[in-house]
Amino acid sequence: MQALYYVGPERLEMRDTEEPPLAEGESRVRIQATGICGSDLHAYHGHDPRRQPPLILGHEAAGEVVEGALAGKRVTMNPLIVCGRCDYCLGGRQNLCSHRTMIGMTRPGSFADFLTIPDHCLIELPDTLSSVTAALTEPAATALHGIQRLERTLPRPLAEAAVLVIGAGAVGLLVGLMLHQRGVRKLRLADTNPLRRQTALELGLDVFDPGKEKPGDDTFEAVFDCVGAAVTRDMAISAIRPGGAIMHLGLQDNNGGLDVRAITLKEITFLGGYTYTATDLLATVDLLDSGALGDLSWVETRSLDEGAQAFADLVAGRTAAAKVILLPS
Ligand SMILES: [Zn+2]
Ligand SMILES: [Zn+2]
Repeated sequence: MQALYYVGPERLEMRDTEEPPLAEGESRVRIQATGICGSDLHAYHGHDPRRQPPLILGHEAAGEVVEGALAGKRVTMNPLIVCGRCDYCLGGRQNLCSHRTMIGMTRPGSFADFLTIPDHCLIELPDTLSSVTAALTEPAATALHGIQRLERTLPRPLAEAAVLVIGAGAVGLLVGLMLHQRGVRKLRLADTNPLRRQTALELGLDVFDPGKEKPGDDTFEAVFDCVGAAVTRDMAISAIRPGGAIMHLGLQDNNGGLDVRAITLKEITFLGGYTYTATDLLATVDLLDSGALGDLSWVETRSLDEGAQAFADLVAGRTAAAKVILLPS
């Protein structure tokens, strides 16, 4: 099969490689669509010690099962492989499983014609949901998980809150679309990339350039930081109203931008959000299939062969699409 290998910092290569062997309790999936994630870009730069070359990256995928329990079915997949037995798994917080592993990290990912994955990771798709849209399940579930975690900390319904979303990449844009769909009327998005702002604008979202315009101090009851850099954490803490909640979803850099004095005096709830549970993924497939998030044609598709170029374009900010989805031939 053909696979796009990460072979070293800023180097990707299409290689002809053996199909991975099928283990007991696993299925083989022919990949039809697979998205490039911010974490894949992070790895591409050589910044992720968990992702060591040579490795097939990719963990956002939809395809058809060709061998295994669900043979013949179209599926998306939970890229997190969890144990099902630890306290977290039993308590419904599988994203925190003490023994979790992940495709595209500890085992080959989805930038390939085929991958193998445990049966329990597979989620059957409705016929009405295209594989390209279904490949958005993973980032959309991350957005949904973050919204739900934050929602539980607010004293009033989220729809009544003024909300700021920092970053209009896939997760930020999906957070924005979900909040809009939930009836949040005072909703603003911030992104420094003009191409991404244009995409958000075309989707009817109120978006601004934080390089030119400040979001306003003490203005929002809720802030989603979908970038996760020192400068965006700083913006979130200034923009949040006293008593408000910040959901930190991005992982751009680890340190800085946390004014703990402001967090304390403003009594801010600062929350981390990591991935999703199996229930979040099921709810997300439903949501994507319902059409409630509007026209999802803002994703850009390219062939898997062109994957290396797609990475380079994403790094250079040359693409307006908040998500590039690769299609194996
Ligand atoms: Zn991802
Ligand atoms: Zn577990």
